[in-house]
Amino acid sequence: MSTRDQRCEVSVRGVDIGFGRVKVLEKLNLDIAQSEFIVLLGPSGCGKSTLLNAIAGLLDVNDGQIWIGGRNVTWEEPKDRGIAMVFQSYALYPRMTVRGNMSFGLRVAGMPAAEIQKRVTEAAAMLKITNLLDRRPSELSGGQRQRVAIGRALVRDAGVFLFDEPLSNLDAQLRVELRVEIKRLHQRLSATMIYVTHDQIEALTLADRIAVMQGGVIQQLDTPQKVYREPINRFVASFVGSPS
Ligand code: ADP
Ligand code: MG
Repeated sequence: MSTRDQRCEVSVRGVDIGFGRVKVLEKLNLDIAQSEFIVLLGPSGCGKSTLLNAIAGLLDVNDGQIWIGGRNVTWEEPKDRGIAMVFQSYALYPRMTVRGNMSFGLRVAGMPAAEIQKRVTEAAAMLKITNLLDRRPSELSGGQRQRVAIGRALVRDAGVFLFDEPLSNLDAQLRVELRVEIKRLHQRLSATMIYVTHDQIEALTLADRIAVMQGGVIQQLDTPQKVYREPINRFVASFVGSPS
């Protein structure tokens, strides 16, 4: 699992990223298997979003490579990488309806209307937002908006989904509800998912494996059980380990 597996869906190889003279990620490696649910967990500022944005192609690497689906995508545009991303702030277009928001990217890509319609209908049903398709974002609750944002990612039919703290703006009950929904989607689509959070409970309940990050370094990459019961150092123990 740990080394250069050919069947790795996403492979981050020796990636360096810095802003000016500050190095955020240094020689970072991470191999993610097809259909795996990986959570990047760590405190604010440890480099989770930087890593996710590098995988998405929203941020250039200074050195190293990103591989997705067996291709070196290091210098490919985000739209060509076969990924779909959900952000913490829903980033919906305020003047478009839910349907418009969900179809926009597909329309721009030139997909036939009938296919767009089919995908939007399916995704809306999966996320239980069919009754909201003609509303605008301002007429939706936070939880509903985030469902739309997830729906917009779903219609892309991507092999890899990237989530950057998608539930952080929601209250506790909605967080639990949408967490269950995301887990169900993962099982149903068997897509590869990379999910950033600073929330230990989210990580422990969602992940096949958790990458615990600190200061731009992956301190431990293991199953939730392992990370929780056998933290490899004091930092991991204090951040996720079982209370002693
Ligand atoms: P996280 O998502 O784990 O909270 P980030 O990846 O956003 O952390 O940030 C990691 C580090 O990189 C932080 O110290 C942050 O201040 C710095 N950083 C992130 N983006 C930029 C940027 N555009 N310019 C300068 N520094 C940045
Ligand atoms: Mg972040």
